[in-house]
Amino acid sequence: MSRQKADALVIFGVTGDLAHRKIFPSLYAMEQRGALQVPIVGIARQDMTLDDLISRARNGIERFGDGDIDEVVFKRFADRLKYVLGDYADIESFKKLRVALGDAKHPLHYLAVPPSIFGMVTANLAAGGCADGASVVVEKPFGRDLESSMQLNADLHAVFPEDRVYRIDHYLGKEALLNLTYFRFGNRFLEPIWNHEHVRSVQITMAEDFGVEGRGAFYDEAGAIRDVVQNHMLQMIALLAMDPPASPDDESLRDAKVRVLRSMRPLAPEDVVRGRYRGYLKEAGVHPDSRTETYAAVRFHIDSWRWAGVPFLVRVGKEMPVTATEVLVDLRRPPQALFDDSAHCDRNYFRFQFKPFTTISIGARAKKPGDAMVGEQIEMIALHQEPDEMSAYERLIEDAMLGQAGLFARVDEVESAWRIIDPVLKVNTHLYDYQPSTWGPLEARQLAVGHTAWHDPLSPVKIAHTVEP
Ligand code: NAP
Repeated sequence: MSRQKADALVIFGVTGDLAHRKIFPSLYAMEQRGALQVPIVGIARQDMTLDDLISRARNGIERFGDGDIDEVVFKRFADRLKYVLGDYADIESFKKLRVALGDAKHPLHYLAVPPSIFGMVTANLAAGGCADGASVVVEKPFGRDLESSMQLNADLHAVFPEDRVYRIDHYLGKEALLNLTYFRFGNRFLEPIWNHEHVRSVQITMAEDFGVEGRGAFYDEAGAIRDVVQNHMLQMIALLAMDPPASPDDESLRDAKVRVLRSMRPLAPEDVVRGRYRGYLKEAGVHPDSRTETYAAVRFHIDSWRWAGVPFLVRVGKEMPVTATEVLVDLRRPPQALFDDSAHCDRNYFRFQFKPFTTISIGARAKKPGDAMVGEQIEMIALHQEPDEMSAYERLIEDAMLGQAGLFARVDEVESAWRIIDPVLKVNTHLYDYQPSTWGPLEARQLAVGHTAWHDPLSPVKIAHTVEP
């Protein structure tokens, strides 16, 4: 079966945090735009009424949605909802679900439940007659390592072929990331310089100025590398580094990303510096002997013709000085030092800011007024947009309902990403303490030596005057 438009949406774990914060507000926003056309069945183990579910949906939309509730729209939305009380271990619950689905032939099952029960739910969807013609949405984390990820995918594929699986990495639904792909391939001037001849290094920093925010137990099981490097950061690198997709269709884009991931070298311990902010061990839910990192600086290598020798430096962390995500693509100097300041000046760069704003800017040199042929660094802002109008979740849920897979992680992307990360998960690399509101352990500097010193997002780009290799 090829991908189908969904004619019903089922939310497993409809009583959970994800449904409350993200799914209900997104569905309501779709309803507001007239983009929601199907019945919605929530299923969970709490004994509650449909009215309870509607109240919970309203609360989620009020707290996490965009603006005031329009009662006419909300009534339309609430009329779509049904609730099935279900035990996911019991096939009878799935038979009840099948009845609730009426004559829907292509339901989309959204598994907003812990990954540990994905296998049970999908097996019982099949046993209860709910999998025929259906598709499934699952959330990251897609496993804890390569082995568990392969097991998870095997469980999914036992019931749903890959073209009926949608894996959400919500970063892929962000406007700023879509713009990165557009900016790269909608312009002619970038492609000729987008390679090791002209690019010296690529840096990505994803900083959060807060800690684990009450999610200590969840976070302590994951850590920065599993939580954001394996997925969001590698997806960003794939989009930054990929060759032009063969055509605009979903699979060509995913093929192009997979080629990058396959040419990335598995990480070695010397490519990683892990850190932990002081005070982390006192967070609720964190194990007193925890060795989990809240910060990671990682140097990736892409062994391809295009990127040979160009480091992709990634830094992610909690309790940093700001909340921001930025990419800096640092270009080499002109081949000849024509001016007095040529040998020492900053260079050209592209800066893509994803958070708090979507900004694309270009760093360049321009002459200072006066007799001397001496320049100064300027930054040309090519684009500056407010954060997403449409939330990433709204875009992704709509795409999954329409059968559009381009913004979802394919099985080979996920497993290739784990293959790169896996070797360092098995080694207990040193964990350096860092003070909250700093840029993490100083030891991370060693990863950037000989390339470009770390650039801190939201601040002027100051490229270190190191000797070019
Ligand atoms: P959650 O609040 O802990 O639970 C979600 C739902 O799963 C609830 O309905 C809960 O039922 C149900 N559930 C949990 N364990 C169960 C079990 N053993 N048997 C039956 N039902 C069970 O989780 P969540 O934060 O919504 O996350 C859901 C999924 O999204 C997870 O895979 C998570 O990793 C992923 N995710 C969440 C977020 C987020 O912002 N929350 C972000 C990214 C990814 P009860 O209400 O009865 O306990």
